[in-house]
Amino acid sequence: MRTKAVSLLQELTDAHSVPGHEDEVRAIFVDELEDCGELSTDRNGSVFCESTGDGPRVLVAGHMDEVGFMVQNITTDGFIQFVPLGGWWEHSLLSQRVEILTRSGGKILGVVSSRPPHLLAEAQRRQVMTIDQMFIDVGAESRREVMDEIGISLGDPIAPCSVFTPMAREDYFMAKAFDNRVGMAGVIQAGQILTRSTLPNRLILCGTVQEEVGLRGAKTAAAFSHPDVAIILEGPPADDTPGFSRADCQGRLGGGVQIRLFDPSAIANPRLAGLAIDVARAEGIPHQVTVRRSGGTDAGSFHLANNGVPCIVLGVPARYIHSHNSIIDLNDYLNMITLIIALVRRLDRETVDGLSEYL
Ligand SMILES: [Zn+2]
Repeated sequence: MRTKAVSLLQELTDAHSVPGHEDEVRAIFVDELEDCGELSTDRNGSVFCESTGDGPRVLVAGHMDEVGFMVQNITTDGFIQFVPLGGWWEHSLLSQRVEILTRSGGKILGVVSSRPPHLLAEAQRRQVMTIDQMFIDVGAESRREVMDEIGISLGDPIAPCSVFTPMAREDYFMAKAFDNRVGMAGVIQAGQILTRSTLPNRLILCGTVQEEVGLRGAKTAAAFSHPDVAIILEGPPADDTPGFSRADCQGRLGGGVQIRLFDPSAIANPRLAGLAIDVARAEGIPHQVTVRRSGGTDAGSFHLANNGVPCIVLGVPARYIHSHNSIIDLNDYLNMITLIIALVRRLDRETVDGLSEYL
């Protein structure tokens, strides 16, 4: 499980997959799961692999997109202006490498401009630049060169460029986009293991599009797949670094799979949350319960879909998400896989019906 986890995480984090342009992650999903069930997509591009079992429809979903950018304009002297796709803190952008995906499939390396301190007035050094003041340099001299020779067009998607790297500490890995490639790897790897055995439910594995721009893909994914219950997998922010209270931390690397009870986008179904915690305890799976003051996940859209869908969010905390370099502890990921498997195996008709029996 460990070897497969590392190779899957490497392949997924290396993929270029910003909101609305999730083709590379979808291709990995299809490649990994085509023998595990029937594949389909909704019309926005969210992808599904549905097993043949009887019983309640159990959805295990993660979002395929990562935060990135889109080409907004090309200046006459060949620099690229861009808009964000998802939430970025401008501090983390200057002088970072990016890859622009062209219509012909080329990946063009560029760097976000940054002025040397020599050329900055004192007041400018203390300012946070806004994204509309930045540009990407691909080493061209003119708009014509950027468009006609390099092949970049307005609207082309741009992803951070950063290499998946094992760290000195065993089981620590650094890469871009652990939010949410840990979730996608979880959907794939838990799905492959679960579909090898008979389940008391009909398992639907899912990769959604456009989560980072407002939980959009999950809306149509829910309407398309009609889940009776949904487990949403995420790569939430860790809060175990200097500046946070260690004692009050709810997302510690090495602390186990995170079970999220609340964020402003969704309240977990309390019976499902209770079951997830009970299962983790019974199976001895390291876990950390979190109540978040901010943030949101696809559960925000899934739980409001159709007649309502009981949801729980499981996560692998990652430091420095929404930047070029985030860090995870692989053991948290492996604990998430173990919990997904144990939880899904308990979701029979009676249990799932019980999650939303109110009379
Ligand atoms: Zn996410």
